[in-house]
Amino acid sequence: MPIKPILDVIKNSLDKQFTIEFPEDNEEKADNYKGLHRLDLDTCISCAACQRICPNQTIEMVEVPSKGNRKMPQINWERCLFCALCEEVCPVHCLILTKDTQYEVYDRRDLLKRPEELR
Ligand code: SF4
Ligand code: SF4
Repeated sequence: MPIKPILDVIKNSLDKQFTIEFPEDNEEKADNYKGLHRLDLDTCISCAACQRICPNQTIEMVEVPSKGNRKMPQINWERCLFCALCEEVCPVHCLILTKDTQYEVYDRRDLLKRPEELR
């Protein structure tokens, strides 16, 4: 019977744990860490500057019925580079990148976030 695999299991079970349980997220993030977007629908002026500057065509301006069908950014997190250019260019600071990183989904189509979902 091979003894090495058994010894490896024993050794690994005694080693320090390097991973954390999902979805627990205790990782310390740097001050300038850029995670998921948050949009303030009441402040957005529908200027589309965020859409124009996005280097990966991640943002599409879509109508928001609760705001008189004004167009606001819909963001596809599947394409996002988290470069924060959209945050920097926003003239009223209503679009920010938070430190939130938890956007796991079962269906990749759920990574397309309407303005109302960016809260
Ligand atoms: S963070 Fe960068 S890639 Fe993502 S939506 Fe904003 S500008 Fe586009
Ligand atoms: S989020 Fe900011 S940059 Fe984008 S449309 Fe609204 S006001 Fe303009």
